[in-house]
Amino acid sequence: MSYGYWLLSLETPKARKEYTCQWCYTNIAIGEVYTKHNYIYDGFTSEKFHSDCYQAMQNTDNNATNDDSRCMDRHKRGEVCDGHTAEGEG
Ligand SMILES: [Zn+2]
Ligand SMILES: [Zn+2]
Repeated sequence: MSYGYWLLSLETPKARKEYTCQWCYTNIAIGEVYTKHNYIYDGFTSEKFHSDCYQAMQNTDNNATNDDSRCMDRHKRGEVCDGHTAEGEG
């Protein structure tokens, strides 16, 4: 049994209602252009992102997350993932 990621479509519609961005977990406002990411990964998945958050996700180095899957932690809007290394030093 193998699993794989299969991109179905990327759309940039305008939000007709409020959604939650799957990168920064804040609201996507009504009327805002967002990125809709439809793919198959062990089933159909549709996710919505602020367009700048989607860009940040693309710019994130997968090595930073030590995983081949996307980091599911909360990020700042539009900021790439830093791997969530421990803060507080320096
Ligand atoms: Zn966002
Ligand atoms: Zn992250």
